[in-house]
Amino acid sequence: MHKRNKSLSWAVNQFKNRSLQGLSYKLDRGISKPTRVIFCMTLRCNIKCQQCAIWRLPYEEELTTEQWKKVIYDLRKWLGPYRVQLAGGEIFVRKDIPEIIKFATDNDVLTGLVSNGTMITKKLADDIVKSGLGYIHISVDGIKAETHDHIRGIPGLHKKTTAGIDYLLDAAKGSGMSICVATVIMKPNMHELVDLVNWVEKKGINGIIFNPLGPTIDSDPDWYKKTPLFFDDLKEINRILDQLIELKRKSGKILNPPEQFEEMKKYFEKPQLLMRDKCMVGITNLSITCNGDIHTCFKMPPLGNLKETTVEAVWDSEKARDLRKKIKNCTIHCSPGNFVYRRNLLSEVLRYIKYG
Ligand code: SF4
Repeated sequence: MHKRNKSLSWAVNQFKNRSLQGLSYKLDRGISKPTRVIFCMTLRCNIKCQQCAIWRLPYEEELTTEQWKKVIYDLRKWLGPYRVQLAGGEIFVRKDIPEIIKFATDNDVLTGLVSNGTMITKKLADDIVKSGLGYIHISVDGIKAETHDHIRGIPGLHKKTTAGIDYLLDAAKGSGMSICVATVIMKPNMHELVDLVNWVEKKGINGIIFNPLGPTIDSDPDWYKKTPLFFDDLKEINRILDQLIELKRKSGKILNPPEQFEEMKKYFEKPQLLMRDKCMVGITNLSITCNGDIHTCFKMPPLGNLKETTVEAVWDSEKARDLRKKIKNCTIHCSPGNFVYRRNLLSEVLRYIKYG
């Protein structure tokens, strides 16, 4: 199927499901199907970022290449045209990622992925582009090498990450694959965010997406008091967020909508508060973890495991309805990051057209 037709059928499917999500939410039912699909394919990672807890988790058995292909195929049959984000850990510790993406592309499934970029060689960049990947987000936390390396815990990483980006930029020429930078906003890098946007522009990278620093999976309500990464000068971070809103208007390289930066301001001011708006992840998100567990939110118990059941069988099950009721009263601390933040459909489609 031609890429444009594929994208159009995805947008129509998004529209159909999003129109019914309000009703699904009200009734705690799975009347609509998920519109955000994420595979967390490995917990393994080659680095140890301060803000991340995934590498601290014990090893979890991973689905094999063939099992992931079956997941992709079965979901295509149930969901219709969909888009999946592949993530980890560091996704490229698995050697089969280009093969899995190629399988998805051949089955009319749109793909994107998130990586720290440090394992991307020239050959891997070529393979990724040939696989038909739609977008790749590479984590860069500082314009200065020492900032990035300090946050990510290993000297020399910034050099490897930017080399990975260069290989990708080179391989992706004329392919339509979008390359973006992903940055977590925190105290050590807050004075480099504006320069990062300018760097993205200068390098010809498609865009940059910001995520607010948030609690890790242990969800300690006092998390922000215990980390040196959280802000002690709120006035200053608000000023910088205002600069990003302004830059968003001028440069067009920033993927976040301005409202999300406004949300971040409220959140940084009172990180101890629970999410202010209703959480829709029980309706919108389908997250499959490396061992085949089926989740909506990663922080909530699984609905089942793909070795024993299917997504279709559990999506509107008794267990799923109970979970959705529980989510309405969720007391876990979480941030308005991109896993949770819900754009309106138009801005989602526009973002897709521009950034893949
Ligand atoms: S932790 Fe709770 S509020 Fe946050 S995304 Fe999950 S279900 Fe929603």
